[in-house]
Amino acid sequence: TCGICVEKCPFDAIQIINLPQELEDNPVHRYGDNAFSLYGLPAPGEGRVTGILGPNGIGKTTAVHILADELTPNLGDSATGGDWESVLEEYRGTALQDYLESLLDGDVTVARKPQYVDEIPDQFDGTTRALLEGTDERGVLDELIERVGIEPVVDQDIDTLSGGELQRVALVAALARDADFYFLDEVSPYLDIGQRMTAARLIQEMAEEEDRSMLVVEHDLAILDLLADVIHVGYGEPGAFGVITDPKSVKNGINEYLSGYLENENMRIRQNAIEFEEHAPRSVSTGDVVIEYPGLEKSYGEGEFSLSVESGTIRESEVLGVVGPNGIGKSTFAKLLADRLEPDTGELDASVDISYKPQYVEVDQPMRVDAFLGSIAEDFGTSYWNTEIAQPLQLDRIMDQQLTDLSGGERQRVAIAACLSRDADLYLLDEPSAHLDVEQRVLATSAIRRYAENHDATAMVIDHDIYMIDLLADRLLVFDGEPAVAGHASTPQSMRSGMNDFLSNLDITFRRDERTGRPRINKPESRLDREQKQAGEYYYAP
Ligand code: ADP
Ligand code: ADP
Repeated sequence: TCGICVEKCPFDAIQIINLPQELEDNPVHRYGDNAFSLYGLPAPGEGRVTGILGPNGIGKTTAVHILADELTPNLGDSATGGDWESVLEEYRGTALQDYLESLLDGDVTVARKPQYVDEIPDQFDGTTRALLEGTDERGVLDELIERVGIEPVVDQDIDTLSGGELQRVALVAALARDADFYFLDEVSPYLDIGQRMTAARLIQEMAEEEDRSMLVVEHDLAILDLLADVIHVGYGEPGAFGVITDPKSVKNGINEYLSGYLENENMRIRQNAIEFEEHAPRSVSTGDVVIEYPGLEKSYGEGEFSLSVESGTIRESEVLGVVGPNGIGKSTFAKLLADRLEPDTGELDASVDISYKPQYVEVDQPMRVDAFLGSIAEDFGTSYWNTEIAQPLQLDRIMDQQLTDLSGGERQRVAIAACLSRDADLYLLDEPSAHLDVEQRVLATSAIRRYAENHDATAMVIDHDIYMIDLLADRLLVFDGEPAVAGHASTPQSMRSGMNDFLSNLDITFRRDERTGRPRINKPESRLDREQKQAGEYYYAP
């Protein structure tokens, strides 16, 4: 149990992991008696993108400090402090040997992209260009700026940028450096799928063409799959110990992770497998109509962005996935439904209660998490609330913390909990995956699904993580158009036709992994890519 429930976990998800006996004696590093211990290290390699897949809090940052020679590992003997010769001895003959030798030979230089890009404006005053010029050791700034599409904001002050813009600035800042080893802690938050694919391509080019070592942590599995050449799975008990496995092929690593069982390690990391539907689900909710909205139009100012929305209906107990590029009007539509904006034409039924979680979760209230949630949830603290909300969102450990002290992922979980805890007909969640690790995404997904089902409520979830949308949504609302200029939303449609619409706009197709049925992005112009485009089947097997 996770400490809240006395009984078996209703999500069949939370699992206390015991460290295998054979590992116990051989940590790489231990911070102190009874303090966090790390077992295993990722092995970066020149010309290669090495991925790490696993939850936060299991020592990824610690591992990077070690690989950057900022922390000498003590091999578990926290009393004496470490020395590199013993470490090299320990890892002779493993995938790490080459890297450790070059580390010992001289200076391996490291460039990093931090995980929480929202914090960049607190650390830097000035324009985007001023920030980036300070990082341009390779003389490639203009090219990178163009590739990621941030030219429109280079002369803007950093504190005026959106999350998606900051994410791309941070990526450019890291890649412009001249380093041997690049550590990128999550590149996908706030980026749409097209932008994620561009980021993946840039990182691969650094490995292939520049022969650099790239190490990435990524929780969007479709992107990790596309991006990495090899992966390490990480598991453990956050805060207590973490294990980084030996390298695995990307395909096997992700499959084993999803199945909940690591084969070489003979280690169960989750009770249940995560499964995808290979064929489009047939049934579509026939519940009562919750919202029926007419065609809507909304523009900002003179000749700025304009949005047109086709009429639609949303039904009880369904989860509607909302997909489309950034800057296309998804949040604007959410605000229209939530009555935070007035449409220019069309009228909305004001009798619908909507609970809204915005994309950027800002908190300035000096308040404890439990006091904050207690002020929102009528049934706060009941076993029902604990089981449905606190437990899957892993709130127990942070209940007594101040909202202002929370990390990005913690704040996201509190915001999802607050959204679901209000009494409403429609729960509208804008990018709930941002800053959640892969395990938390799975738990949050099942919490949102169960909540909609058990409350005859409806959830609308805007997200760019295809795996999350696949696991969550019954139907899709697809946005297209020209970002920042004009957006269009079609009427909600079935998963199959919605995915076809959405992915044909992006010009990408997915195939299915033959063992697990999980979707994998096809190489452009591969045989499957061409065949599927011809057949008009971008996502589901016919
Ligand atoms: P991740 O990057 O996977 O989220 P970290 O490497 O940052 O994980 O941290 C793993 C654990 O190590 C955390 O529980 C953290 O509190 C603990 N830790 C990190 N640095 C220190 C330190 N200097 N002393 C003691 N414990 C630490
Ligand atoms: P999405 O949620 O799909 O990323 P948004 O609805 O947030 O898109 O924004 C669509 C477009 O409208 C963007 O170009 C954005 O800059 C612009 N926009 C959003 N809010 C305003 C506003 N209050 N005034 C002017 N333009 C805005």
